[in-house]
Amino acid sequence: MITLAGVSKAFHPGTPAEHWALRDVDLALEPGQVTVLTGPSGAGKTTLLLLAGCLARPTSGRVLFRGEPISHLGERFLAETRNRHIGFVFQQFNLLPGRSALQNVLLPAVPLGTPWRARLDRAQGLLETLQVGHRAHAEASRLSSGEQQRVAIARALMNDPEILLADEPTANLDAAAAERFVDLLARLHTRGRTLLLSSHDPRLVASGVAHRTLRLADGRLEEA
Ligand code: ADP
Ligand code: ADP
Repeated sequence: MITLAGVSKAFHPGTPAEHWALRDVDLALEPGQVTVLTGPSGAGKTTLLLLAGCLARPTSGRVLFRGEPISHLGERFLAETRNRHIGFVFQQFNLLPGRSALQNVLLPAVPLGTPWRARLDRAQGLLETLQVGHRAHAEASRLSSGEQQRVAIARALMNDPEILLADEPTANLDAAAAERFVDLLARLHTRGRTLLLSSHDPRLVASGVAHRTLRLADGRLEEA
């Protein structure tokens, strides 16, 4: 589904501050697979997710979507690919703070031109599924971090993406919410979705939802 082939990523390349966040990473995300990425803070997990999600470009190596190299394509094409096929849950949520929870979840559907009523039903349904339906009209900036995280998950699922990439998606969830999130992952898997999650949450790792656990250490990827 998404393949990273010999991908390296440097920040500030060619300067004294040069730092290689990923080194020669090979990773194939197979359709329908659930992969959990672990590793200490600073190991490169966020960087890897952003590259897999076409939100950043590699310094060297290639990112392929359904076998087609895409990392060199224009920003408009990447934005469209992301919006149609990839859901992304950011570690810091990246919600629009002045908009309501519902407006945040609705956003990704706008460019697809789905009828308004269907969009609204789906967005409200997702908020209910994530048990934040009662917060639909609250401004995102007024939500607790656990609520924001669940709204971010709902937004990522709005266009029913084939691929869900999520950066520490349970970091702000209590035990009950984390358990429901694992159930949601299992249902997404049943529906053939491809999932890649970064996490060092023992609840997620122990849940058995992952087919594959990988570990990043200092930018290098290894089987855990
Ligand atoms: P993790 O998600 O595993 O904590 P990150 O991918 O966030 O790791 O970061 C990997 C390394 O790259 C870290 O050393 C981090 O400081 C560095 N890094 C990440 N983003 C940037 C950036 N925008 N500019 C410079 N260095 C960065
Ligand atoms: P299934 O009925 O196939 O088991 P679920 O409803 O359990 O599917 O959830 C799987 C996916 O369906 C979710 O990730 C999400 O994309 C979508 N979904 C879940 N609940 C709702 C809802 N209330 N409204 C709209 N879509 C939903």
